[in-house]
Amino acid sequence: MNNIVIKLFLFLFLFQNLINAQSLENKNVLVIYQLDPYHSPKLFVKRVVSWLEVQKAHVIVSNNLNSYSNKELMDSIDLVIQTVTMGSLNSAQEKGLTNAIKSGTGIAGSHGGLADSFRNNTLYQFMIGGQFVSHPGGNVNYTVEFTKPKNDLTKNIKNFNLNSEQYYMHVDPYINILATTKFSGKEFPWIKDQEIPVCWTKNFGKGKVFYLSIGHSPDNFDIPEVWELLTRGFKWASKN
Ligand SMILES: [Zn+2]
Repeated sequence: MNNIVIKLFLFLFLFQNLINAQSLENKNVLVIYQLDPYHSPKLFVKRVVSWLEVQKAHVIVSNNLNSYSNKELMDSIDLVIQTVTMGSLNSAQEKGLTNAIKSGTGIAGSHGGLADSFRNNTLYQFMIGGQFVSHPGGNVNYTVEFTKPKNDLTKNIKNFNLNSEQYYMHVDPYINILATTKFSGKEFPWIKDQEIPVCWTKNFGKGKVFYLSIGHSPDNFDIPEVWELLTRGFKWASKN
């Protein structure tokens, strides 16, 4: 074979892999939730599951964190979508989840459901790459600005405004920041104009992590930019 033919095969192979990576068809997705007094995880789950069904994914919904310590189940999962605010993982659950992600299962989610989940589980926080610490002023108007317009996850999504909880996060310098927001400083003047990540990706071993801090109220997901970003993140994070 000459060089051109080899290059053509290589291109087709890479292109096919790219397409596969972007689809959730026939992927096993674990959607895991727990009720909390501040949010509506059941509405989130309903919306996500309807979307996953359109993508032809195989969906397993669980409200039991013991799913994470079920090795046989976790070995079969391509993507975990989690919406659990606060709570805690016991050591078997934390180990089961983090080992699965380390081995290549993806994890994605939004708001406190992924980054204010288990305040005492530092290995979990190490995996996610950030932790909610404050939402100054409660529901406020704020702007989301994209930092890498050429990135596949944010390409053609324009900066947008919303009214919701604006998350102030403590983050791992290792994360790949895709969008940020600036704080008004109205409640805490010393953080005026401080830029804080809203959306990021990272890896944990072989697994991919996608996080978006928006999502306090179910109607946040009616904002086309928010839903587009989140669903691109779901596809991106799933195991190749
Ligand atoms: Zn909230």
